[in-house]
Amino acid sequence: MIDESEITFGGSYLDRADRLRGDADAMARLLADPASRILPFWQGKPLFDRTAAGPRLVWLKADDPMVASHTDSALFLGLDDAGAAHFAVDVSAVAPPDGDPSAVLNLPATQGFADLRAVLGELDHRDAAIAAPAKGIFEWRRSHGFCSNCGARNVMAHAGWRFDCPACKRPHFPRTDPVVIMLVLDGDRVLLGRQPGWDEGMYSLLAGFVEPGETIEEAVRREVAEETSVQVGAVRYLTSQPWPFPASLMIGCVARAESTAITLDPRELEDALWASKAEIWQALAGQHPRLRPARKGAVAQAILRAWVEGRTGSV
Ligand SMILES: [Zn+2]
Repeated sequence: MIDESEITFGGSYLDRADRLRGDADAMARLLADPASRILPFWQGKPLFDRTAAGPRLVWLKADDPMVASHTDSALFLGLDDAGAAHFAVDVSAVAPPDGDPSAVLNLPATQGFADLRAVLGELDHRDAAIAAPAKGIFEWRRSHGFCSNCGARNVMAHAGWRFDCPACKRPHFPRTDPVVIMLVLDGDRVLLGRQPGWDEGMYSLLAGFVEPGETIEEAVRREVAEETSVQVGAVRYLTSQPWPFPASLMIGCVARAESTAITLDPRELEDALWASKAEIWQALAGQHPRLRPARKGAVAQAILRAWVEGRTGSV
């Protein structure tokens, strides 16, 4: 079994309190409450403070000059155990994508906006879980500003969780795209692949988007067959990971190989191979001469680690 505490971006640290999202008065009151905490995002990157324990999210009060003039973009993230409201605010307008917001905002030397993937291996579990929905929503907003039905400009609604079209009245909800990622086993060996452009020696579990009209099991079998021609039989769910880059939900499965010969689809993979449990153990310890496993914070690494530790069960 794989515990949620092993999954970066997983974990329910806030009550998302959907009941409050439609209450504009409550939202305005919470946004003005000195106890509320506001997380600024610039160009999809949250603000971090580089502490001795690693990068930690920087939470501001609503009257902080950095966020005060951007609260119309506020996304209500939820309430903590003490009842304090948490919001994320988009301050992208302070500097262009190639600009330097640190200089514009006169940030302390220890603070800066950082891509969640750039600090993936160092993220605090709670910080990662709280930042993930904001990252996902801000990505969605960036590409869904206009109604997909009639083309009018959408209006933000429901505490930032929905777009409404003022012309045709259609509501638009943030999307989540399911992706299967699979531990394909042939006895004591696992099937790994590598995409062009990855760091030297890096191999990971095969993965791919679920297509419309397809079950998770079917998607696992199709993706593995397409990429390597390996045939897969039984498939069982293991764990999942929100992956808001921009909108994926990684669905981790264990699958049994029914064939072992590999024929690569070069459009998808540069290489694929079968690796033994001993080799993965060595690779996770950084001691394999050639193989480097998926990076820390990615669900592939959590699954591989659980496998070599005998925690994925049989399929
Ligand atoms: Zn419309």
